[in-house]
Amino acid sequence: MSRIIADVIIVGGGIVGCSAAFHLARRKGTRVLVVEKGPLGSGTTKRSGAFVRAAHAHPAEARLAVESTKFFQRWKEIVGGSCGWTPTGLIVVAPAEHAARLREQTAQLQALGADAQIISRGDVRDLQPAARVDDIALAAHEPSAGFVDPVLATQSLAARAKELGATFKTGTMVKSIRIEYGRVVGIETNIGLIEALNVVLCTSAWTDRLLKPLKAEIGLRAHCAPIAFFDRPADLRAGHCAFEDWTTGALFRPHTFGLTMGALNTPPADDANPDSFDEAVAPAFVADLQQRIAARLPAMANARYARGHTGIYDLTPDDHAVVGRVPGITGLFVAAGFGGIGFALAPAVGACIGELVADGEARTVDVRALEMARFKTRDVLRDA
Ligand SMILES: Cc1cc2nc3c(=O)[nH]c(=O)nc-3n(C[C@H](O)[C@H](O)[C@H](O)COP(=O)(O)OP(=O)(O)OC[C@H]3O[C@@H](n4cnc5c(N)ncnc54)[C@H](O)[C@@H]3O)c2cc1C
Repeated sequence: MSRIIADVIIVGGGIVGCSAAFHLARRKGTRVLVVEKGPLGSGTTKRSGAFVRAAHAHPAEARLAVESTKFFQRWKEIVGGSCGWTPTGLIVVAPAEHAARLREQTAQLQALGADAQIISRGDVRDLQPAARVDDIALAAHEPSAGFVDPVLATQSLAARAKELGATFKTGTMVKSIRIEYGRVVGIETNIGLIEALNVVLCTSAWTDRLLKPLKAEIGLRAHCAPIAFFDRPADLRAGHCAFEDWTTGALFRPHTFGLTMGALNTPPADDANPDSFDEAVAPAFVADLQQRIAARLPAMANARYARGHTGIYDLTPDDHAVVGRVPGITGLFVAAGFGGIGFALAPAVGACIGELVADGEARTVDVRALEMARFKTRDVLRDA
């Protein structure tokens, strides 16, 4: 094999890695290489619900989502092609005990420039006449929320990054990160050593496998996360708004082909191996989810289960993402631990990674609150 050298190697060809590749490739003269063990988008990305909303509690994550929503909306102009952007709007509903939290979150979103406002129970009924509203203490509306096609978006970013000069090596497994005197010098792969002074890990639930030998792991947990699709009954054929329901714990949105997709806002904490897990969904989960959705949209009690699958959430010790440098190792960066919100954040995360690597500082969003250094990391092996 001839010697391969890049300025930046991105490990992982999911939505986050392809977004980082796109943003880095836009900078003229940067040799970007993406290394992916499977096909592009074959990890968590292909199983994603790909719902895009700004309604997140953590200010840095919310800000990333606000910037990313704009990016998805202007995809054709920025990237070219399509990501399948479909606006749905989002209504977040809260019972009395969580009303103050929703008011606070919505005020924070507004301060961050998000298109979100508190609405009344009557407004919910006007927006969604089929919804049950008598148990709603407070609601918030985010009209700019929507969903994308996760694989199309990933392929579209990768195609544009290639046009801009990035190289992609799929079917290539990264075995380890090569460090010399405390700085990255490349990666060891199944096709040999690839040299670079910057490596970005966009490897979701697999990230700690590469960090552990460097004694710098995040402490990621991999949890199973099921989603299900239902055929909407005739009286909801025209569709509905997306809902995040803090009373029932269900998050659901309309999908294409007359389907409604739903998930639990907090899936059960079942530890999983990202290389081998049961992708099927349990009938008990489907029945429970349908009941929760029907508690808000009663007509959904008559919906027919169409299909479902399980994917993996990569969760950090505090359930918030990691975006930034790996402490103690010059040239090593990580963007992982997105759990169930990585799609909504990916365009801005990629921009921040590009800025961190090339300029030393993220400007699109201040991601210092998401630095890995917030977790206690062990001593880093300087000559691993
Ligand atoms: C069921 C489900 C529903 C979801 N719904 C939503 C949603 O509605 N909205 C939202 O915002 N988010 C959602 N998410 C979360 C979102 O999909 C993820 O956060 C996002 O796809 C993560 O992208 P990624 O690029 O970080 O990871 P991945 O897509 O997993 O990509 C990582 C890649 O790294 C590769 N890799 C790993 N190790 C190596 C190695 N050693 N060498 C080479 N390659 C390697 C893997 O093969 C993989 O392709 C959902 C997740 C699940 C599971």
